[in-house]
Amino acid sequence: MLLTLALSTFGTPLTVDMLDVGQGDSVLLTTPSGRHILVDAGTRSSGVAETLHRLGVEELDLVVATHPHADHIGGMRDVVTEFPIGAYIDSGMEHTTRTYQELMSTIEERGVERRVAQAGQHFDLPDDTDIYVLWPRPSLMRGTRSDLNSNSVVLRVEYGDDCLLLTGDAEEPTEAGLLRAGLEPCDILKVAHHGSGHSSTRRFVEAVSPSIAIISLGENNRYNHPGDSTIRNLEAFDATIYRTDLTGHLSLEMTGEGVVVTDGLAMGAPTEWVAPISTTLVSENQHINIVDNGDVSTDDHIDEEPATNVENTVDDVTVEETTEAAGFCSKMFGWMIFWD
Ligand SMILES: [Zn+2]
Repeated sequence: MLLTLALSTFGTPLTVDMLDVGQGDSVLLTTPSGRHILVDAGTRSSGVAETLHRLGVEELDLVVATHPHADHIGGMRDVVTEFPIGAYIDSGMEHTTRTYQELMSTIEERGVERRVAQAGQHFDLPDDTDIYVLWPRPSLMRGTRSDLNSNSVVLRVEYGDDCLLLTGDAEEPTEAGLLRAGLEPCDILKVAHHGSGHSSTRRFVEAVSPSIAIISLGENNRYNHPGDSTIRNLEAFDATIYRTDLTGHLSLEMTGEGVVVTDGLAMGAPTEWVAPISTTLVSENQHINIVDNGDVSTDDHIDEEPATNVENTVDDVTVEETTEAAGFCSKMFGWMIFWD
């Protein structure tokens, strides 16, 4: 009954599909009118392009590569080759691997519009879908345990009152930077780095306070993901955990007034419960206001960061100093990206 009420009030939901790619990440967002956004593409062998065809995807408005590790961009070359793409966004971190080099060549050959993500950018997509880039900062982090991970593109997706936080493989230094910038709560957390113990600190999870945590990882993976501390921290703040290694493909619907898990079993659910359907409506109470009257920036917090950072790996250069007020329009689909 609650579900019916939610859908009828706000309209068609935005669908979040966490594809079953084993040890890797790939998330497909589908807006109410059928626009598609892909964030990461798993390893090459995980066959994301094939899965997208099977799901009926014909073109991708926006493709995001959170960082250039093979478990996130391995399948990207096939995606770029096989689908029309509105724009391709990445962290700006380069990699020496053949996978990365070949992907860059293919993007260039195909004439795909490529942009570097920076905190403060706002993707104003159709269907009242807003995507805000929270990370990386204009000056990339250096000297961390993994600079590729630390500069992962972090996105906040908003649809109505519902929120999804996509974190790539961000680790503790990134979480600390996001906290300093002023992190808002969010309903769904795509848990960083396959649940690794290098991520999902207690402070970070507390700030996000997700009702639902989704983890993409391979069964019996050699990294021992997820880390005990990650699970402990998520459970401490009452997040219901969903893991692709236990149940495969996960699907959620952001109704605009609450989140519904439509495919996927929560961790710890009774194994005799065969049908992988949950209709739990998670209440919304974690919405931030999108600015109105033409001011498309929500990165006010960028300027609030203290001038003296405790970590010298984060640069203090503000967005204003490094980017011009600008934006561009997707040639193919007409939506706008703004940054201020
Ligand atoms: Zn990864």
